[in-house]
Amino acid sequence: MINADTYINIQKIIQTNKATLVAVSKTKPIEDIQALYDLGHRDFGENYVQELITKEKQLPKDIRWHFIGHLQSNKVKQIVPFIHLIQSVDSYKLLQEINKQAQKLDRTINCLLQIHIAKEETKFGLNEEELEVLIKTLNHTPLSNVSIIGFMGIASFTNDKNQIRKEFQQLKQLFNQYQSHSIKNYTPHILSMGMSSDYTIALEEGSNMIRIGSLLFGIRETI
Ligand SMILES: *Cc1c(COP(=O)(O)O)cnc(C)c1O
Repeated sequence: MINADTYINIQKIIQTNKATLVAVSKTKPIEDIQALYDLGHRDFGENYVQELITKEKQLPKDIRWHFIGHLQSNKVKQIVPFIHLIQSVDSYKLLQEINKQAQKLDRTINCLLQIHIAKEETKFGLNEEELEVLIKTLNHTPLSNVSIIGFMGIASFTNDKNQIRKEFQQLKQLFNQYQSHSIKNYTPHILSMGMSSDYTIALEEGSNMIRIGSLLFGIRETI
């Protein structure tokens, strides 16, 4: 079951904000994705490679699939043929593998760098220092078949709205910084931040891509 009314409301909000909505369908059945597709939605996000591949095979080919989970190098090959945007890149090594697999297929893969903004240790992503090193490496040794088009971040899992806002502000500031003295060969223009519980704060702080799961598809039994 999908929440069609909520979808239509969020759709209005993102149009006002000129943002993109990625519907996060992890753990949810094909029928739910198809139902949202039938309402005209095309951007869907998944966290697990195996699940994504199974779903991609069964669903319409004009879906734009976003990979938003932790990606292991040895699984890159399986998603490169069809993926629209990999949002969770957090190492040069991973970029090299994406580049290698993309070259074989003569594709250029759009990627976001995942930045660690939350207080929790467990969340993946680059800290500011690691980001700087990675950008330096990229500028020194560009990769022909990957394109860094922006940043993604996940805020702390907390009820403290001020804390969440601070984390989004921090990411927006980094984004602005790398936009102005830009990354060679790349134009970062996507700032992916905001989930079901914090997307309104994210939009207020300059997000132009939100990733919404439970509000659209209902609460997940597993994370
Ligand atoms: C699961 C997930 C989401 C969606 O979470 P909801 O709280 O259900 O909206 C967004 N982004 C990432 C990276 C996720 O793993």
